[in-house]
Amino acid sequence: LIELDRAHLVHPVASYRGHERAGVRVLRSAKGATVTDAGGRELLDGFAGLWCVNAGYGQDSIVEAAARQMRELPYATAYFGLGSEPAIRLAAALAERAPGDLNHVYFTLGGSDAVDTTVRLIRYYQTVRGRPEKDQFISLDQGYHGSSTVGAGLTALPAFHAQFGLPFPWQHKIPSPYPYRNPVGGDPEAIIAASLAALRAKAEEVGGPGRVAAFYAEPIQGSGGVIVPPPGWLRAMRDLCAELDILFVADEVITGFGRTGPLFACSEEEIVPDLMTTAKGLTSGYVPMGAVFLSDRVYDAIADGAGEAAVGHGYTYSAHPVSAAVGLEVLRLYEDGLLENGRRAGARLLAGLHGLAGHPLVGEVRGRGLLAAVELVTDKARRTPLPAAADPARRIFDRAWDNGLVLRAFGTGILGFAPPLCCTPAEIDALVERTRRTLDQTLA
Ligand code: PMP
Repeated sequence: LIELDRAHLVHPVASYRGHERAGVRVLRSAKGATVTDAGGRELLDGFAGLWCVNAGYGQDSIVEAAARQMRELPYATAYFGLGSEPAIRLAAALAERAPGDLNHVYFTLGGSDAVDTTVRLIRYYQTVRGRPEKDQFISLDQGYHGSSTVGAGLTALPAFHAQFGLPFPWQHKIPSPYPYRNPVGGDPEAIIAASLAALRAKAEEVGGPGRVAAFYAEPIQGSGGVIVPPPGWLRAMRDLCAELDILFVADEVITGFGRTGPLFACSEEEIVPDLMTTAKGLTSGYVPMGAVFLSDRVYDAIADGAGEAAVGHGYTYSAHPVSAAVGLEVLRLYEDGLLENGRRAGARLLAGLHGLAGHPLVGEVRGRGLLAAVELVTDKARRTPLPAAADPARRIFDRAWDNGLVLRAFGTGILGFAPPLCCTPAEIDALVERTRRTLDQTLA
């Protein structure tokens, strides 16, 4: 398998340098929060695949829901006014649970095309309401909004921009509200004030708020290093967008579906975005699917305007019936105890990781629910990152793997945790213990 992989399978690029040299690690099977590799070794999946297998592996009822739908109707297009029962029922169920008036659901295949969909629908929305000049988009440093070309431009990770002249000239960034490394310091009020001022200033810089179509934010920035903004930050940014007539897009691709506790992180902060993107936990990684939520105001404008200059936008597999059937069953599992278990496991995880705070390498422990990070430093007082030349992310990933733990290590040594919601207390404790062992070996 390793030879065939090297010869033929193209992996996503910009993963850890050196993985190609080390060779692929092949997984064979999985159950709950445990994955088994091709050699039969069991590991604890502290990252739920790629923050997506929220319901855990090997859930028979999900498999049965998919099989039933495949037998009954494996495919139906969502084009030409056609539909299928599971897609309609899933849209209705999601709308009922989404914050506020996010009552309209556009299904995609994953998160990147969900973000693309928002950009296209937002431009269309601004055009049909007579504001086509509102064509500038703003997102955050350390933000991640996918790897399609448009989404990669909103993403603020340099590897996603190389060679393509990204971001596009209409895509702009403002500083992340990164409490541990914010130039204004860690005070929540100061961070919120700085972000508000930065959004106002960026809007002015591009020609005034009358030119700005939308602002994008993850409730907790995931791929940028699990950055948790201070309490009240999301609401303050949402309110400023409303004041400036800028659409507020919450990217809940990671935070959605129980990752931070509730079904949606926006609900916890009691904010209603104008649009919301989700994927990952929507189908728990069993099959691909994403969903864009649109508010009544945005949807009504688009629906009313559709005759004039309709935007051509859709996918062969939009609203795929098998994905929708899986989504419905996954949602049932969340509400049948998984969310509750995830909240308990999340509290245990954060308490356990905070127990590592005294470790010489640990600069900060942060997170919410089952979305957590440990930021490593060589000097706690100066908050000095680990030396990049030593490729700490890959080395820590490899060591953790040898200790029976799959985690995610970012850039200069941020360890990310996002285990499945089905984790038992013993699994959470093992995750923390294996992390401690990995840190001790990193220090040695
Ligand atoms: N938005 C966010 C916040 C994400 O974390 C991701 C994926 N990590 C995406 C969008 C893109 O999703 P996908 O990989 O399913 O295209």
